[in-house]
This record gives sequence, C-alpha cells and structure tokens, in this order.
Amino acid sequence: MNGLPTWLTNKKASDDIAPLLRNDSPVSLESLAAEARAITLSRFGRTMSLYAPLYLSNFCSSGCAYCGYASDRTTRRRRLESEEVRHELESMKKMGIHDVLLLTGERTSAAEFDYLRRCVEIASGIMARVSIEAFPMNVNEYRALADSGCTGVTIYQETYDPEQYRRLHRWGPKQNFLERLEIPERALQAGIKTVGIGALLGLSEPVEEALRVLRHVRHLSRTYWRAGLSVSFPRIRPQTGGFQPEFTVSDHFLARMIFAFRIGLPDVELVLSTRESPAFRDGMAGLGITRMSIASRTTVGGYLEPDGNEKGQFEVNDDRNTKTFCKALEAKNIEPVFKNWEPVYNGPNTESEQTG
Ligand code: SF4
Repeated sequence: MNGLPTWLTNKKASDDIAPLLRNDSPVSLESLAAEARAITLSRFGRTMSLYAPLYLSNFCSSGCAYCGYASDRTTRRRRLESEEVRHELESMKKMGIHDVLLLTGERTSAAEFDYLRRCVEIASGIMARVSIEAFPMNVNEYRALADSGCTGVTIYQETYDPEQYRRLHRWGPKQNFLERLEIPERALQAGIKTVGIGALLGLSEPVEEALRVLRHVRHLSRTYWRAGLSVSFPRIRPQTGGFQPEFTVSDHFLARMIFAFRIGLPDVELVLSTRESPAFRDGMAGLGITRMSIASRTTVGGYLEPDGNEKGQFEVNDDRNTKTFCKALEAKNIEPVFKNWEPVYNGPNTESEQTG
C-alpha cells in the first residue's frame, strides 16, 4: 500500500525487541519474565490500576468481520438513555468502580457525537476517570470531549497489516486504514491526556503484528512525550457471527509479547482485559501488566440487567466479581487501585504542551 507512514515501515525501530518474540529466541520465557517483573516493580510498584467498560450503544454501521456488533449481525440493538447511563454508572460505583471506559460502535444517527458527549458529561460527574472507546472523531470533537471530562481515548488499529485490514473490514467508515492510523494523534493534539492502542491478536501474523504495535507506541511517545500511553493485548474471543481467527496466538506467545513490551516500553501502561482467563490474568499480574478491566459486562445495560443469553461484543473469560478478583491480586501482594486521581486535576493539556 502506498503512503504508509515511515514509523510503521521502519523495522530498525523494533530491532531490539524482535529477537525476543521469535519462537526460536535464545532468551528463555523465565528470564524475560524476571526482567519484566523487575522493571514493573521499579516503575509501577506493587499496584494494579482497575477499570470497567460500559457499553453505551451497540448500533453500528461497519462490517468488521470479527465483531459481534457488526451491522449484519442479528443482535438486538439498543442504546442507553441518559437516566439509564446514570443508573448503570451508579451501579458500577457500588461495585467499587471509579474508572470507566465508555464504548459505542461506529458513528450512527442513534449514537453520534452529541450523544457521546452527553454520556461523558454524566460519567464525569460520577466517576473519577472517564475514557472512551468509540468512533473516530476530528480534533475539535476530541477537544470538546476533553472539556467535558474525558481524559482517555482507546482506539485499536485491529491489524496493522494493510492487506488483512482490507479483507476484514468489509464495509463502513472503518475501511480507511490510513485514516485510522492517524486517530491516536488527533486525540492527543486535542488535549486528551492518555491514549491506548493495540491490535486484535489473531488477525495477522503475530510476531510482525507485535512489532508494528511497538513501533506505533514508540512513535507516539517520541512525538507526544507528555502523553500517557497504553498498549492492550486483546485476543479474539467467541462472538455472535462465529468469526474464527486465521492465526493462533498461544498463551506462551502472548506472555512473551507482554514481557518483551515491558522491557521495550518500561513506562508504558500495559493492559489486560477480561477476554483472558483468570489463570492467565493472575499469572501476568506483576509481570508487566499494570492495568486490568474487572467485572466487565460487554452487553448494553449489562450491569443492571445482565442477559445471560447475549454474548455482547465478545464473551468474557474472567467473570470474577471485584471482591474475588481483588483477593487474587492481594494474594500476590499487589494492591488493587480503583482511583488514583481526583477529577479536579482533569484540565486538558494543550497541543503545545503535548508536543513540547
Ligand atoms: S469493531 Fe466497532 S466498528 Fe467494527 S463492527 Fe464492531 S462495533 Fe462496529
């Protein structure tokens, strides 16, 4: 594909980590884990930052082959109205959650910018930290969300392989690979404080995919050195639509990837969601991962009205409640952190502050 940014194609920028990811790497998993553990301890201490997602709407106009909310699925569609958003957030707060990630599908008339901004305003009056994972926006829209109390944007490229990207995004606005690559920078230019990126692991060859994610986060950290950056490691889970990934991402490879990222990105938040099993999550805590979702529901309105028959965007793998999960962390001598700042500190950065 023409017009790929140089940070994506410059393999030298990930040469230090590439040997750690190969199957035949001379560096053992145990020694990588020990190094990752030491770096995590020195940079983040014995803590785990915790958040939960809230699905606001599952209307979507895109046809991502791997998603249970793609517009050709027969899933029941709905969006939460303002009062329902408030009730869901209050119910989450009773569970101990203070840090929420608000999600929507692609931009539609049912869930467009003004709707999302209203939801951010409601959430910022209830939660200490509000982030979004929603449709791409322009800089002015991100700036308006920052002014409404949004401090974080999560946006996954899904796959950094342009050919796989073209095949898997069957229709809709998300088909534009190059435009999607620009979105994290738009959010940072608008004064959003933290940006999370990642690839949906299984959509393309895992080693090359991991290295492209690494190059992306390094590019962002060089350009927006004041930004808080995070990387997530989502693997494909069963979902409505029954998409089967073409590439296998084993536990062994995922662990190797997490350790290598901690070594290559010592200060970047590494995130593991409830897509992963309790055993794997417990194993990774303290070994590189510093942020986890907890007690997640992936259906719209899932906290007040859990619907056992709906798979949501994907099936959750770790369904432990906050109490049980925190006990597991504490057994590893890791302190669960539900709230690490007050909303009073949420003033947006300016573009000049971000880029220095
Ligand atoms: S991944 Fe997002 S944009 Fe794609 S179908 Fe699912 S909800 Fe829509």
